[in-house]
Amino acid sequence: MITGKIVLYGNKTITGKNSFNGIKITHMLTLSTAATMTLDGGNVCLDFINSGYHQLETDEAERLHTYADFLLLARRLDLISASWHDDLLQLATQHPQKAAAVLSKARKIRTALYNLFTTRCDADPDGRRTGNLRVFNAALQDMWKQRKLTFEDGRYQSAWKHPKPHLEHPLLQLVLAAYSLLASRAQHDVKQCQGCLWLFLDQSKNHSRRWCDMQSCGSLVKSRRYYQRKKADGAAKQGRTGKAAK
Ligand SMILES: [Zn+2]
Repeated sequence: MITGKIVLYGNKTITGKNSFNGIKITHMLTLSTAATMTLDGGNVCLDFINSGYHQLETDEAERLHTYADFLLLARRLDLISASWHDDLLQLATQHPQKAAAVLSKARKIRTALYNLFTTRCDADPDGRRTGNLRVFNAALQDMWKQRKLTFEDGRYQSAWKHPKPHLEHPLLQLVLAAYSLLASRAQHDVKQCQGCLWLFLDQSKNHSRRWCDMQSCGSLVKSRRYYQRKKADGAAKQGRTGKAAK
């Protein structure tokens, strides 16, 4: 019999028993929130994408339920200052429909980005990549409209046109970060964790990283494989016993 307790830190807490000999596996899952999810994607746009995905299953797991959640994540990713966070929160309260529209747009772009990163190595027979590129390119156009060139501190600099808090500002920053990553050689270093589906930038020396976090996902996948192997061994034994009995 295999028994164990698994605890994941940050992303999701899982406690359960991996049992064998006919006893079912039971897991209690507690999904992290925008305030508690770990931010170890290695790039702000990857952490943003991960906010919409589960740690273990393929189902989507929404962490951005409100514009306030989106702002909280943007603050944690250091995309906005504390004062901009407070100003934008106030602005969202004054213009709830606009804030909801920005959140909806952010989720749509997040889905497109997830698909773009995860289908990079695939063929595109159904035009899925093309469709997602269309969504992202539309977001890019909106973003470039808000950029300008300035001359400050003795050098030219790229800057935002809007000097005051702007509801779309965190999203525009994420689009810029995603564009920079997708258009760079580092696009080849974006990987999907084998344990939880989260995306991360593999900056290891030999580019052999397989987990977003070895302590949580690495251990979990090894434990899961061990259980599956034991289950297969047990089934094979039962099959042999059954055959002998006949
Ligand atoms: Zn993982």
